[in-house]
Amino acid sequence: MVVTRFAPSPNGSLHLGHAFSAIAAHDIAQERGGRFLLRIEDIDGERSMPEKAAEFRKDLAWLGLEWEEVPAQSTRLANYEEAAQYLLHEGLLYPCTCTRKDIAARNPRMGPEGAVYPGTCKGQSLDPDKPAALRLDVDRAMAGLGELSWEDEVGGTQIADPRPFGDVVLVRKDAPASYHLAATLDDAADGVTLVTRGEDLFSSTHVHRVLQELLGLPVPTWHHHPILLDEEDEKLAKRRCSPSLADRRAAGEDGRALARQLRMGEFPAGITQSNA
Ligand code: GLU
Repeated sequence: MVVTRFAPSPNGSLHLGHAFSAIAAHDIAQERGGRFLLRIEDIDGERSMPEKAAEFRKDLAWLGLEWEEVPAQSTRLANYEEAAQYLLHEGLLYPCTCTRKDIAARNPRMGPEGAVYPGTCKGQSLDPDKPAALRLDVDRAMAGLGELSWEDEVGGTQIADPRPFGDVVLVRKDAPASYHLAATLDDAADGVTLVTRGEDLFSSTHVHRVLQELLGLPVPTWHHHPILLDEEDEKLAKRRCSPSLADRRAAGEDGRALARQLRMGEFPAGITQSNA
């Protein structure tokens, strides 16, 4: 049975792009007789506003969706900690005390998530008195693994190559796990068999596939759907895109009608779908 999910971060209100994503996952589950889960990804450091979760639930109900909610990330910290300890013990993580400024000063190459870490702290050992992030030693991790592939329902078979990301952060200075570690562990814990999300996260999957292998987790299939773009062909963003779903709801707009339009590919003026 297919188990898929919508996993919003409560660091701003949901917008049309989120509605599109939630509907995509919901409808896949419904068409295939599977389950559709909602998971609140509320460990995004200071940007996280867990109280937004209530707003998200109202938004999804307004769109006419039904879901099963699984525990929010903030309740799963022990699980992240345990995985990080394991990887640390395996010698696959190293502490990093660099600031963004330190990294920029080294003139780093650019990767899918911005500046790629130049490896300044590699080989450093943990000093419990110094706040540090923990980074994955990607070369070391990959050296112990054979070729790994993953399946995307849209893009077909992919060979996992996390190297463009460099040594990604798995434990943040200000949060017990990065998106990569938390989402990978949660999808496994929630029994997700199909990770449905926007194609803007496609490249992250290379990192997630490697983490699954390192941590002995089951390997789902992925479905990276097109994303909605604004007039400048930029991904809709929580800060730029108005009105939010909550604003539309408050203004008395019909959420089910909006959901129907999104399903048919009818978008408000100025909004298009990537790769369409
Ligand atoms: N929490 C992520 C976001 O809101 C989505 C994570 C995912 O679907 O894997 O962008």
